[in-house]
Parts: sequence; structure tokens; C-alpha cells
Amino acid sequence: MAVPLFDTAATLAPLRGELRAAIERVLDSERFVLGPEVEMFERELAAYTGAAHGVGVANGTDAITIALRAIGVGPGDEVVVPSFTFYASAEAIPPTGATPVFCDVDPATFCVTAETVRAALTPRTKAVVVVHLFGNVAPVAEIEALGVPVLEDAAQALGSNSGAGRAGALGTAATVSFYPSKNLGCFGDGGMILTSDERVAEQARILRFHGSRDKVDYEQLGYNSRLDELQAAVLRVQLPHLDAWANGRREAARHYERAGLGELVALPRPVPDCSPAWHLYVVSDARPQRLEAALGAAGIGFKPYYRTPVHRQPPMRVWPPAGELPGTEQAAARHLAIPMSPVLSREQAEQVVAAVRAAAG
Ligand SMILES: *Cc1c(COP(=O)(O)O)cnc(C)c1O
Repeated sequence: MAVPLFDTAATLAPLRGELRAAIERVLDSERFVLGPEVEMFERELAAYTGAAHGVGVANGTDAITIALRAIGVGPGDEVVVPSFTFYASAEAIPPTGATPVFCDVDPATFCVTAETVRAALTPRTKAVVVVHLFGNVAPVAEIEALGVPVLEDAAQALGSNSGAGRAGALGTAATVSFYPSKNLGCFGDGGMILTSDERVAEQARILRFHGSRDKVDYEQLGYNSRLDELQAAVLRVQLPHLDAWANGRREAARHYERAGLGELVALPRPVPDCSPAWHLYVVSDARPQRLEAALGAAGIGFKPYYRTPVHRQPPMRVWPPAGELPGTEQAAARHLAIPMSPVLSREQAEQVVAAVRAAAG
């Protein structure tokens, strides 16, 4: 039996009736962009994470650019960002006028640490984009203690908790993506900025609509970056299930542990005091190509997501890191995502582990 890398269809199957009704409701309302569904979803997701405000935008990449500008980042500033992440975490920085400064990660957690961020700070650092990669939760308080504002890129971490609260409510602001494969996915593109800072929320609201408060006067150059009513309605149906799905992901990780996966490859290590809702389950091995061959032959999904770290992608080479990034190089060379979803069963996990064992043996 094939095991898919992720399984959104099976996860959403029980909600199909409710999802159809929500779509009908929007059709009947004849409001399609930034209406009541978006306003209610902004409140509901903010309340879920513990942030005071939510500002719906077009996608998770715009959310980062707009949040950085709302925090006050602009030309001449530097923004620290890990190089081992999805490209968009860094790509969203230059449009603010600031330059990305790449920092390292801990290859065991795949996240930045206070030490890796400190090494990249300069007098021009205006903010740090802290990526909660794969659903792990980076140590935001320790990084804020360095004296620099933190923007959490929580695109992969909705449903994840830390001792200090939920991912999305730990920094000055946070951004999330509702791309269909994320932990909370819509049926197209969508994103949100979360913050408890009233001024940041207000700035983000202005920036997402062409830099205007009232569609009459335009006070700054902004964006057309809005969440639409259909996506918000679909997301409102799903949000009450996010915790159960996050627990399903944690259970899937336990299935892998119980089946002995940790004896064969390095498992992703949760950051201390954190309970990840694994968005992706990413193991590490000195020879991942050997695993890829075995998993492929067994019909099991896998993906090396970030073999080339962001700082070595051609458009980013104009901003070379100041020093070596050994954790990034190790993570890039060794990581491999294996199947993960809220509905991954014990049998499926055992099948994956059997294929990995065959490759190791
Ligand atoms: C998906 C993702 C984004 C971008 O979100 P989009 O909605 O696709 O623009 C940014 N950062 C990380 C870590 C992501 O996984």
C-alpha cells in the first residue's frame, strides 16, 4: 500500500458538507473580499493563538513583507533570517527595502537559536524573522532578550505550543499561511498577520489596502493583499478542528517512535518546552539518497525540501552570510521529509519504518 507524503483529502472528508454550506453562504451574501467572514475569522484565529489582532492578507509571503513594514523595517535596515527555511521567509525581506542577513540553525531542531541569531546581529539589525520550521517552535523569548524585535514566521506551526504560549503569539508579530498543504489550509492562497501590538495591527491593515484607511486618502505606498470571503469561510469551518489535527500529527510522530524509527535515522528534536504540531516530519541521515531510493521503491512519499539553502539560491547571492553556516549545511545535506498527516495510522508508520529499515540493513 502506498503511503502519501501528506493527506489533505482524508483529513477534510468528514467536513465536506459543512464546507459546501459555508461556500453557499458566501455566494448568497454577495460579499467576496474583506467582508464579515474575514473579520470573524481574524478574530477567531487571533483568539485561538492568544494574539489580540489578526489581519487577513493574500498569502503568507505578503504577510511577512507587510508585517515587517508595520514593525518599522525599511531601507537601510537589516533583517536576520535563517538560511535553512522555505525561500519565501527571506524573499519577503528585500521588498521592504531592508537586506536579509542569513543566520544558522541548530540541525537537530532545524530552528534558529539565540546563539545563531546573536552571531548575525549588527547595529543595523531592525528585526529577526524567526521561522518555526516544520512545526517546531523556536525560542522566541531568548531571542527577544538579545534586544531585537521578533517576527515569527509561523507558516508551518499553527497548532504548535510552547511553554510561553502558542506559535503565533510569542513575538512582536507573527505571520501564517493558509496554502492548502499547511496545518490549516484554504482552497487557494491566504495568509494572516497576528499581533498584540495595536499600532502594528493598524499599520498592517492600512498597508494591505494600498496604504489607505478609507479608500479616499492614501498615506503610504501599500499593497493589494487581501484575504477573500470564500477562503475565510472555509477556514472558519476548519479552525475548530485544528487542535485535534495537531494531536493527530503528534500521534503520528509517536507511531514512528514506537516503530523504532529513532534506531535507524535521527528524528527531529522538539525545542525544549515545546510541543510541535509537526507540519512535516523530517528525519536526518548521512546518506538520505539511500532512503529516498528505498522509500520510492516501496511507494512511500518523501521529499528533500531545502537541499540548497536559501543563501546559495542565485537571487540571494548578493547577500552572502558573514561566516560559515555549518548547521544549515548539515541540515540541507541530510534532511528528508517522510509521510506526516493528522490521519497517518500506526500501520502506515510501521510500513514506512520497514522501508527505512530495509534501506539501512
Ligand atoms: C509556506 C511558507 C511561507 C509562504 O506562504 P505562502 O502562503 O505560500 O506565501 C513562508 N514561510 C514558510 C516557512 C512557509 O512554509
